[in-house]
Amino acid sequence: MKIICIGRNYAKHARELGNEVPDQPVVFLKPSTALLIKDRPLYYPDFTEELHYEGELVLRISRLGKCIDPCFAHRYYDAVTVGIDFTARDLQRALKNKGLPWEIAKGWDHSAAIGRWIPIEKIHLPPDQWHFELRKNDTVVQQAQLSDMLWDIPALISYVSQYFTLHIGDMLFTGTPPGVGPVQIGDVLEGYFLGRRVLRTEIK
Ligand code: MG
Repeated sequence: MKIICIGRNYAKHARELGNEVPDQPVVFLKPSTALLIKDRPLYYPDFTEELHYEGELVLRISRLGKCIDPCFAHRYYDAVTVGIDFTARDLQRALKNKGLPWEIAKGWDHSAAIGRWIPIEKIHLPPDQWHFELRKNDTVVQQAQLSDMLWDIPALISYVSQYFTLHIGDMLFTGTPPGVGPVQIGDVLEGYFLGRRVLRTEIK
């Protein structure tokens, strides 16, 4: 199982971190050991002083595929949830400034929190009407409509499957909207998809 992540898929988020809006999706991977499930807490890692949340829509891949045409992409995922791409922002900044890979800033143990899966057949809205939000200590900090994405779900699945064969059980983090920010020990993060809470994680 692999976790494929998209960076800078919302123009406003790219700008809030001082990045250019890319002309192709930014893609990186997290290892399977990054998963954090079942609303377990996240223990603040020792190696960062700037732990950030990035709330994201996450897809569950349900079919083997390679070089998938965008018009068939909807056949390749069967569930959706909200996840958090936890990021050691200070490490990421230092690595980016040196032009080095980000893995240790993004792929550490439990850095990929995912909520409860919502089967696609239970969602009675087309993807361009899906929306999600992240709350920190009961305050909404991130909110997004899928129509705000630079690359929609079919475009992302098509793009990443040119490089990585998709396997059943892989996950695709689709990028974070504006509003990323720091967390402290004691904070509670909750993810909502179409108004339903699917994720809760406390920072310990
Ligand atoms: Mg992210």
